[in-house]
Amino acid sequence: MSGAYTESLNRLIEEFGRLPGIGPKTAERLAFYILKARPAEAMALADAIRDLKEKIRRCEICFNFAEQNICQICSDERRDKSIICVVEQPKDLISLEKTGSCKWVYHVLGGHIAPLEGIEPDDLTIKQLIERVHAGGVKELIMATNPNMAGDGTALYISSLLRNAGVKITRLARGLPTGSTIEYASGKMLADAITGRQTLE
Ligand SMILES: [Zn+2]
Repeated sequence: MSGAYTESLNRLIEEFGRLPGIGPKTAERLAFYILKARPAEAMALADAIRDLKEKIRRCEICFNFAEQNICQICSDERRDKSIICVVEQPKDLISLEKTGSCKWVYHVLGGHIAPLEGIEPDDLTIKQLIERVHAGGVKELIMATNPNMAGDGTALYISSLLRNAGVKITRLARGLPTGSTIEYASGKMLADAITGRQTLE
């Protein structure tokens, strides 16, 4: 960090530099932009960050992001609550929603099982998902975990726990390239994968 800058300018450059995809040059440029911006504009950014961190929480039912106890999707009366689409991250839910073909509700696992990385089933919201299914009213579980080894393993693990639960378990069709992620799949690809979903044995 340059000694030519004041302490607070250095601090802002440092904070911007922590953001993904922001190198030192960009961090510096952003900090100077804020420095020159009108106070109201700069404060709006600070307020937006504060608001986000203070207001956003996890939905008590599906663990999606929410600003109330229950997220907008779970509180939507038009959604079919008998179909739960299981995803790893809220970002995957957003990608699926963008296809416009989803009328169901979700369950966000918070990741995938990866023993080598120290991520065990108990670190995810699998227990809560099983409880949701056992509470009744669920007809189908769509496993929309990523089409890679960890995602497949997580889907199989969950389906093994629910083998006798009387619920149909499906997996997104194999139109998605193996090893890819839901987050970066195109809308068309995802829509096809949803339509062509197959029963998981
Ligand atoms: Zn929810």
